[in-house]
Amino acid sequence: MAEKKWVYSFGDGKAEGAASMRDLLGGKGANLAEMSNIGLPVPPGFTITTEVCTAFYENDRNYPDGLKEQVEAALEQVGKAVGMSFGDPENPLLVSVRSGGRASMPGMMDTVLNLGLNDETAAGLAKRAGDERFAYDSYRRFISMYSDVVLGVEHHNFEEILEYYKEEQEYSLDTELSATDWQDVIHRYKERVEEELGRPFPQDVNEQLWGAVGAVFGSWRNRRAETYRRLHNIPESWGTAVNVQAMVFGNMGDTSATGVAFTRNPSTGEKALYGEFLVNAQGEDVVAGIRTPQSLTKKARLEGNDKLPSMEEAMPDAFAELSAVFERLERHYTDMQDVEFTVQEAKLWMLQTRSGKRTAKAALKIAVEMVGEGLIGEETAISRVDPASLDQLLHPTLDPDAPRDVLATGLPASPGAASGEIVFSSDEAAALRQAGKNVVLVRVETSPEDINGMHSAVAILTTRGGMTSHAAVVARGMGRPCVSGAGSIRIDYKSETFTAAGVTLKKGDIITVDGSTGQVLKGEIPTLQPELSGDFATLMSWADKHRRMEVRTNAETPHDAETARKFGAEGIGLCRTEHMFFEEDRIVAVRQMILADDAKGRRAALEKILPMQRDDFRQLFEIMHGLPVTIRLLDPPLHEFLPKGEAEIADFAKETGADAEKLARRLADLAETNPMLGHRGCRLGISYPEIYEMQARAIFEGALLAAAETGAAVTPEIMIPLVGMKAELDFLKERIVAVAVEVEKEKGAKLEYRIGTMIELPRAAIMAREIAESAEFFSFGTNDLTQTTYGISRDDAAHFMNDYMGKKIIAQDPFVSLDREGVGELVRLGAERGRETRPDIKLGICGEHGGDPASIAFCEEVGLTYVSCSPYRVPIARLAAAQSALAGAGNNTSGSGTA
Ligand code: ADP
Ligand code: MG
Ligand code: MG
Repeated sequence: MAEKKWVYSFGDGKAEGAASMRDLLGGKGANLAEMSNIGLPVPPGFTITTEVCTAFYENDRNYPDGLKEQVEAALEQVGKAVGMSFGDPENPLLVSVRSGGRASMPGMMDTVLNLGLNDETAAGLAKRAGDERFAYDSYRRFISMYSDVVLGVEHHNFEEILEYYKEEQEYSLDTELSATDWQDVIHRYKERVEEELGRPFPQDVNEQLWGAVGAVFGSWRNRRAETYRRLHNIPESWGTAVNVQAMVFGNMGDTSATGVAFTRNPSTGEKALYGEFLVNAQGEDVVAGIRTPQSLTKKARLEGNDKLPSMEEAMPDAFAELSAVFERLERHYTDMQDVEFTVQEAKLWMLQTRSGKRTAKAALKIAVEMVGEGLIGEETAISRVDPASLDQLLHPTLDPDAPRDVLATGLPASPGAASGEIVFSSDEAAALRQAGKNVVLVRVETSPEDINGMHSAVAILTTRGGMTSHAAVVARGMGRPCVSGAGSIRIDYKSETFTAAGVTLKKGDIITVDGSTGQVLKGEIPTLQPELSGDFATLMSWADKHRRMEVRTNAETPHDAETARKFGAEGIGLCRTEHMFFEEDRIVAVRQMILADDAKGRRAALEKILPMQRDDFRQLFEIMHGLPVTIRLLDPPLHEFLPKGEAEIADFAKETGADAEKLARRLADLAETNPMLGHRGCRLGISYPEIYEMQARAIFEGALLAAAETGAAVTPEIMIPLVGMKAELDFLKERIVAVAVEVEKEKGAKLEYRIGTMIELPRAAIMAREIAESAEFFSFGTNDLTQTTYGISRDDAAHFMNDYMGKKIIAQDPFVSLDREGVGELVRLGAERGRETRPDIKLGICGEHGGDPASIAFCEEVGLTYVSCSPYRVPIARLAAAQSALAGAGNNTSGSGTA
């Protein structure tokens, strides 16, 4: 019976493994093999596979048969390659033992270097290298590392001993210790280990090796690793690999060094070696921060004002070789690499390579430049940028160099940063905005009546509420920076002050809100403006070539529509008309309409609103210049528009001459137990057809005006919300068509328009076949569809969604990322049934999910015509749509790239 292969060798210009064997060899092992295969200088070694880890746990923590022999044989081969032998007192082979799974994972065992040293081999190494100090420096490192990582004698034991020794000898730097000093220290180290463990530090090199290998496998199930796996959905069955590799020494004097580097700058993407190194040091010293690392290039040294020479200057030959290796690695992997290397007596050795993490800005630059260099094609470039990461680039950001005085930190509810005067009420926000002031609206929480104030503010801060609170959702939709739930801030509405971090600020004081980090800062902090230009614009143009779905925006103000156009929106997928009702100059008329006793009274009030709505629509049509515009007729329950609280009611009564008592009665009439499922959406249009008739007229007249102005044909799409029955749609459609006929007659013009519906109730999805007989398009309103499918109110979900996620009942908030199995199934069903009746029916999605990459991938799978999202997410949606089109419908689940 052929024995299973548990061990894969690498080094010397060849390897048994390859980069493609990541699952079996782990990331580190697979890339060490790959680098060997392409002829890069890699110290020889071998990888014990992840299957050994799995077998080890399946077999009661025993190694599988044959492993021991395969390891011994591989170790001998390594010794042969370097001309040394493991445990040989004359000429000892030393190795490192390194863990490495498929995904890099904090919590796994740390690397042990210089394994194979004991009292005898250390003396042999000293003789052989002709350098006693180097040998004993290596030995003391090994004892402390091995004891800490494998034996559980913590690092501080050894630090204490060394510190004490240095004090005793009046040394300040480690480099002042001589060979004899290190021998003294080693003696004390070994004593401490024996004290702690009751047995001596292992002198048997094989015991050392298996101890370290066992520690790696053991660490796969330690608490930290398990927690990390749970949080990142890494299956336990993956296991970790162990790499055993011949040591090369960066601590052999001044021609030796160790370093870490990126082949390009990971923060800007600039094509320049980027990294740090340390002369006469071993691997862990660079990250441990014991000494200050030096720059790789002369340029970086000058920029950083470093005193010590760069690698380029101190080790020109090794530096030249490193530069050549970088070119080679990039050409081979066709991606930016993050590497670890060591120089031993002027000779370069490569110890690790992997795709480097990078900022969104760097990801764009690298992807675009690599296409220019012929390393990758456009399609690969598109896949290299994580769409969600673009968010970093689409909002003003705080100048990173400016000093910050943080008052409080809440949730990063809506990205971007802005500064302004504090105001505590929406009315005041609107008034100050009119006076040309920048204001930050500060509220305990917000509600629909704050829409106008939120629009008037440059940023919003709340002390209560989560990531899906009203403030957060509305702010994201408007592209306003928002920090929500900043619980350490105490607002006192009466005195118009708030207190945070022991400071009290009053109305009019300036603060800065950074919705990207959740920070609330004192005073004004300069910001940097977003731009869709350069590499960003180039990548977007490639994405546009490769996507199938259109990308529209949710917008109701000219400002939002313009922003969205700038970001490449191809129309409006959702214009919420009720937001227009809240504007200060019309809310009075809206309220009169609601309070009217009969249709006649309502019509009179609607007459006042008509010209304003017509003008709103005309502006939007003009900005969109012939692109499709979908307008949703009035959706929220009417009581949302009415004044609240005694003072507001009294004010309103005085202003309009309305009877306060009657007003209070009407308010009571309109109050609903469950407004989300109450008198809203098309139900309003059915009770009060004149409202929808006025809106339809405003749309048609606005369209004619815009067409005349721009010369571009306008085809409005009128969308009826909350339809559950075909009869509802038919009733309203008939009236809208009648208005169109009237307008055509009055204006002597021909109107092109479409009438469609939102699919946001389960019944609508199920009845899509019938509804499509009347509806010329569907827009899946997945916010409400999620609410109505789960029976969970989004506004109340914040209270328990965290419990659900914490208790692993639900993996992801379904209001953020579409629930594929449940809500998604209804979308799929609705799309299929709609197409059965009307094969060319336009299908779109509006609501938060339209800007979420994973949800966009789903929309591609079910073949929607377009996605619609808030203006600031348009570029994200364009890229995500391209990625999902490239991934091909049916097999894409992630939508995110490698960055
Ligand atoms: P990590 O995953 O924490 O980066 P590594 O296994 O890469 O751990 O090891 C950390 C450092 O140890 C490496 O960057 C390298 O400098 C050093 N190192 C590992 N193996 C060797 C070796 N065979 N010779 C010299 N240095 C090594
Ligand atoms: Mg490493
Ligand atoms: Mg809705």
